[in-house]
Amino acid sequence: MPRRPAGHTARRSAVLAAFTVSALVATASPAPAAPGGTPDPMNQAFARAAARYDVPRDLLAAVGYGETHLDGHSGRPSQAGGYGVMHLVSNPVNHSLEKAAQLTGESRAELRQDTEANILGGAAVLRSHADALGLDGDERADVDAWYPAVARYSGAEGTVAALYADTVYTFLAQGLRATVAGGERIAVTSRPVAPEKGALASAEAAAQSPDYPPAKWVAAASGNYATGRSASVDKVVIHVMQGSYAGTISWFQNAASKVSSHYVVRSSDGEVTQMVRDKDTAYHAKSANASSLGIEHEGYIDDPSWFTDPMYRSSAALTAYLCNRYGIPKDRSHIIGHSEAPGNDHTDPGANWNWTYYMQLVAGGGSGSETDDLSFDSYATQKTGSAGAQVKAVQQLLADQGYEPGAVDGLFGTATKSAVQAFQTTRGLPADGTVGARTWTALLSAGTTPQLSQGASGDAVRRLQRALTAALGTTLAADGTFGPATDTAVRGYQKARGLTVDGHVGPDTWAALQSGR
Ligand SMILES: [Zn+2]
Repeated sequence: MPRRPAGHTARRSAVLAAFTVSALVATASPAPAAPGGTPDPMNQAFARAAARYDVPRDLLAAVGYGETHLDGHSGRPSQAGGYGVMHLVSNPVNHSLEKAAQLTGESRAELRQDTEANILGGAAVLRSHADALGLDGDERADVDAWYPAVARYSGAEGTVAALYADTVYTFLAQGLRATVAGGERIAVTSRPVAPEKGALASAEAAAQSPDYPPAKWVAAASGNYATGRSASVDKVVIHVMQGSYAGTISWFQNAASKVSSHYVVRSSDGEVTQMVRDKDTAYHAKSANASSLGIEHEGYIDDPSWFTDPMYRSSAALTAYLCNRYGIPKDRSHIIGHSEAPGNDHTDPGANWNWTYYMQLVAGGGSGSETDDLSFDSYATQKTGSAGAQVKAVQQLLADQGYEPGAVDGLFGTATKSAVQAFQTTRGLPADGTVGARTWTALLSAGTTPQLSQGASGDAVRRLQRALTAALGTTLAADGTFGPATDTAVRGYQKARGLTVDGHVGPDTWAALQSGR
């Protein structure tokens, strides 16, 4: 791995130290106590594992969240043979479970069953990748330097490894807050990230799907499906994969798995990857394979937190497209769950899958009424004693980013003020607990920082538009489409803030917005 200039490392470490302080502030509120046990066993397990193996705590938590939403499933394996909160894997190509046993001295049974041991094992494996990549102590303190180690933790290579690591860094950028077994809360607060991708930077751009234009294309291993079909397509089969998005893509690339599906859908944002051509027979539903198209959804059937609105919408848009393209009726006789396919023993998508909502979305082509509680024509100053929809938006933004603003109730009290102050500290803003234009701008722009310019669309554009409305004090419609009005606003912002005036939203413009300039 290429070494980075020393000055860069020192700067990053200083920034990181500031985040660590605020992360402590943000997660200090006590979690509900388990009867007779430690009050917050998973938080303690993350802290201990992070300290023992010198892995950033938030990175460790983000990896676990990306893998399992921090649910160990009582030691039951994922589809790819992974175990526990950190998804330690034992399959023909990935042996992170065995590696963790060797590194920690814990038994494989303990690593599978015991959450604390599992988290320790995950940290040990991550650290071993960091050592193999030559990261020194300063670099290990820098979340951004861990990207190649996180990519290796996936067990995949190239595009899929980059996809995996990108997901983890998206959680770090956006922050996260999960409620885990026993009611304990695990938080990672949002932060600006600039991962050092090294050789993986070029692996990012996956090919586009040949059958469904919005999807990416990553081919399944050739032995995991059959070329051609022995029947005409008349069904779409809905699956939940018992695993993560990148983990499942990697599993279908693995020649040992002997399984595949045509499409895989991501929970957090609905991204779709196609892996088998529509004209070919994927191995996903036994006797129904020849006549069906299979869609796998990221997640586990027993955990409703995976079943997000973006995933439902994106999947429904895909199903509607496939139905239109192949003349498949949009009804429950032809859009079926894996559990409903004849002669199989699977239970997915399970009771948490909302068929009523899904079929409504399919009928509407995947569109539906977009609820948006964050977009306003202007953003007024909010402080202790304020009330209303904009306070609610502040609270929602803070909660989504891993802070503890109290109930999202539209009433600005002491918990909200403390959370605002913790956020302001991380962004280098005066920690006065008042949400003025600068804090609004930083809150609204937080998250990933893709390159945007005219023609772009999506949620990142919507974030940009809201942040510009707050920063400039003039209304820009948050329609998610980067057209001439957005271009004008971007140029106006760049001019006012002394940035290069080019209408392109790159690292400098995002950095200015995310620090509330
Ligand atoms: Zn299935």
